[in-house]
Amino acid sequence: MFFLGHMVWAYLFSRPLSNHLNIHLIMLLGILPDIDILFNSIIIHRSITHSIPILTLTFIPFFIKYRYRALPYYIALTQHIFFGDLIVGKTQLLWPFGPTIGLGFKLTSIESIFIEGLGLVVFIILLIKDKALFSLEKRNILMIIPLIPLLIFPLTFTAYSIEHSLVNNFAKNIVKDDIASLVSILHILLAIVLIIMVSNGIRAHIKVSKYREK
Ligand SMILES: [Zn+2]
Repeated sequence: MFFLGHMVWAYLFSRPLSNHLNIHLIMLLGILPDIDILFNSIIIHRSITHSIPILTLTFIPFFIKYRYRALPYYIALTQHIFFGDLIVGKTQLLWPFGPTIGLGFKLTSIESIFIEGLGLVVFIILLIKDKALFSLEKRNILMIIPLIPLLIFPLTFTAYSIEHSLVNNFAKNIVKDDIASLVSILHILLAIVLIIMVSNGIRAHIKVSKYREK
């Protein structure tokens, strides 16, 4: 999955577990395992940062401190592996042990893009239903946190493409290819959603500051 799919599905999996989620943190955790792409000269992609046992161990202090409240965040992090990466790749879930499993659909396959698009549509509907999309809340400024990696996605994707020799099939044909256009549209849509939330956060902040001045 692209960052987009990992982010929106992180929210969809964790939302049933809590009414008070930090959506920015949930979305960030959804893509966090892919931090290994930045260090691909020293870490193999989908190894240590995609290991359920390692991620569970790192989450133990949060479970001790926050108990049940840490669960949605743990799910946001691990769904990246047991859902997103399971569809598009093959991952050694129990790294360093155990088999490498996954459905192995291509990142740019219609199946994978459909699941990303479906997740995005449901994500937007739920944000509207929860009155989170247009709410004037200061903390929405923090939605800039998932917005930044989403906007630098073209850079990380290029690195990924080179690694997986997708350059010729995808990145070079970014305008011509239908799937590529669809992926771009989905990314623009999510970026718009996040920008709306950030700007509402800024508006709320300005409103509070003006109120204080009076
Ligand atoms: Zn991944």
